[in-house]
Amino acid sequence: MKGRKLLMIPGPIEFEPDVLDALGMATTSHIAHDFIEVFVNSVELMREVWKSPEGQAFIVAGTGTLAMDMAAANLIEQGDRVLVISTGYFGKRFKDILDRYGANTKILEAPLGEVVSLDAIEKELKTEKYKALTITHVDTSTGILLDPEPIAELAQKYNTLSILDGVCSVAGEEINQDEWGLDVVLTGSQKAIGVPPGLALLMASQKAIEVWKKRKTPVLNYYADWNNWLPIMRAYEERKPSYFGTPPVNLIVALETSLKIICKEGIDERIKRHQFLAKAFRAGISSINLKMLPKRDEIAANTLTAVYYPDKIDGNALRAKIADSNVIIAGGLLSEIKTTYFRIGHMGSVSPNDLIAVLGALERSLLKLEYTMEPGKSLQAFQNELLKSF
Ligand code: PMP
Repeated sequence: MKGRKLLMIPGPIEFEPDVLDALGMATTSHIAHDFIEVFVNSVELMREVWKSPEGQAFIVAGTGTLAMDMAAANLIEQGDRVLVISTGYFGKRFKDILDRYGANTKILEAPLGEVVSLDAIEKELKTEKYKALTITHVDTSTGILLDPEPIAELAQKYNTLSILDGVCSVAGEEINQDEWGLDVVLTGSQKAIGVPPGLALLMASQKAIEVWKKRKTPVLNYYADWNNWLPIMRAYEERKPSYFGTPPVNLIVALETSLKIICKEGIDERIKRHQFLAKAFRAGISSINLKMLPKRDEIAANTLTAVYYPDKIDGNALRAKIADSNVIIAGGLLSEIKTTYFRIGHMGSVSPNDLIAVLGALERSLLKLEYTMEPGKSLQAFQNELLKSF
C-alpha cells in the first residue's frame, strides 16, 4: 500500500491482518457458547506461551499497568516489604504502584545502561525478609534485558514471591514461568502478544494464589481484586457462563487469533527469530557508529533497541525525516536523558524486511542531516549477520 506507515515503536506494534479482522466481526454475547470456547482456548494458549501449565491466568480489560496494579493489589498488604529491581522507567512505576498499597519498598536501581548485579540482590534478600520482589524483564525506556531465571532462583531461596513485568517481553523473550519458579508473569496485549491495546494479561503461580488467599486485609482495589476475577476465570474454564465486568469480546477473539499464530510458529522459534533479528539490527546500528543504551550486547533487549542520537544531530529533525520515509519510531522515555536517544520496536511479527526499511530510512535521514557515513553500510552489516543464521 503506497504511503502506508510502518509502525516500529515499542508498542503498539504492527498487527496481523487476521487479528485486526477479529476486531471487526459481529460482537457476540460474552456468555455465548462460542465465546466461552474462545476464552478457554486463549487461556490454554497463554499457558503454552508463558510455559506455565500450572498457572492461573487472568484476562482483563485494561493495559499493562493494570496487570502490574493487579499483582500489587492482590499480593501486597500494608507494610509488606517489596524489593524493586529497576533498570529504568517501568521499575520506578512498579515502585509507585506498590507504594500506593502501603508496601515498604526498596528500589535497587541499575546504573544507566547496566543491570543490577545478582550479588546486590542476594545481599538485600539476606539482610531483610521481603515478601516479594519485582523484575522488569525488558525495560522499554532503556532497552535493557534482565535475565529473570537466576533472580527467580534467589527469590525461591529466600522464600520471596517473584513478580515479572513482562509487558515488553512475553512472546518475544525467553520465559519459562513454571520451570524458573516465577510467581507472576504479566503483560499487556499491544506488544509481542500482537493484539491492539486493551488487555491486561497475567499468569499467577499456585503459590501466589495461596499467598493471596491468606491475606489478612481486603484487596484495596475493587476492579483488580482476584475475589472478583478468579470465579470468572474458573467458571469459563468449566465452560460455564459467568459475569463480573463485561469482557472485551472482540479483543479476546483477537487474542485467541494471535496466540494461535504464535503457537503455530512455535514459541521457541518465535523467540529465536526475535533474537537473531535483534542481533542483526544491533550489528547494523553499530556499523554506522551509533551507540546503544545497553552497555553490553548480552543485556540488550530483543524486542526493542534504544539508540543515542549521534553528536550534532537534532533528534526531533531525525525522527521527523524518518517519519517522512513512512517509518514511525519512538523518542526517548527516561526523563533524565529523554532528548538524547530514540527507540525502535522490533517484536511480534517483525521480519527482516521491516528492519531493512528502518535501517534504510535511518541512513537516508542521517545522510540528509549531514552525518558522515557510507550509504548502505548498516544494511550490509544487517544482511551479513542475517546470512549467518540461514
Ligand atoms: N511495563 C513495561 C515494561 C512497559 O513497556 C509498559 C508499556 N510501555 C508498561 C509496563 C505499561 O503498560 P501499558 O502502557 O500497557 O499500561
